[in-house]
Amino acid sequence: MNMDNSKIRRSSADSALRRQSYGASATKAQATAGNVGGGGIYLGIGGNIGDRELNLTRALTIISAHPDMRLLRVSSFYRTSPWGVTEQPWFLNAICEIGTVIYPAALLEELKWIERILGREKSTPRWGPRAIDLDIILYRSIVMRTPLLTIPHKHCTERLFVLMPLVEIAPCIVHPETGVSFRNYLDELLKTQPEEACLKYNQIAYKKP
Ligand code: ADP
Ligand code: MG
Repeated sequence: MNMDNSKIRRSSADSALRRQSYGASATKAQATAGNVGGGGIYLGIGGNIGDRELNLTRALTIISAHPDMRLLRVSSFYRTSPWGVTEQPWFLNAICEIGTVIYPAALLEELKWIERILGREKSTPRWGPRAIDLDIILYRSIVMRTPLLTIPHKHCTERLFVLMPLVEIAPCIVHPETGVSFRNYLDELLKTQPEEACLKYNQIAYKKP
């Protein structure tokens, strides 16, 4: 794969700079490069422009090479119908579980940085076509709502392309606000939405390079 390693190195430098600028809010653990904490952080990965499989794989490769993230589990890839803006090409979606000690707001910035190196334009319309979309679906049991960030992800209980891969890799987890299991949300959604709207694209999904 033709990945530009200097960009990955720049990410580490950016992370280090950000950690320094967190000042008093930085924990000792955060200041230690390579401390990636436990798991329980689930990211949504999707895209519907260009080589979707390659874009998802590239995003996963960057995450696995990130000095402050550990890639723990990756779901199958799912071929899904567009959601929200329906007049656009099909998406490929997946969920991965990571470990990190990067706080949610800084994690969102890291994910936006990965989106940018994978060619996502800053002005991509919400729910519109994009090479890559990285969302924080769950951050352990954290519940937060700020103008920039809602965790658990606002639409995580309404989207097959989140629920199918999430339940695949984490069949027992529950929504931290409602206590309802994600399997339950999936079963409910499948009563009104056809399973074909989100089909397993491949089982193997992602192999570490
Ligand atoms: P979407 O992912 O809903 O299709 P975008 O990727 O364009 O749309 O996201 C727009 C904004 O949503 C982001 O800039 C971010 O500030 C905000 N946002 C709120 N909660 C989250 C979350 N949990 N994960 C990712 N982005 C989020
Ligand atoms: Mg997004």
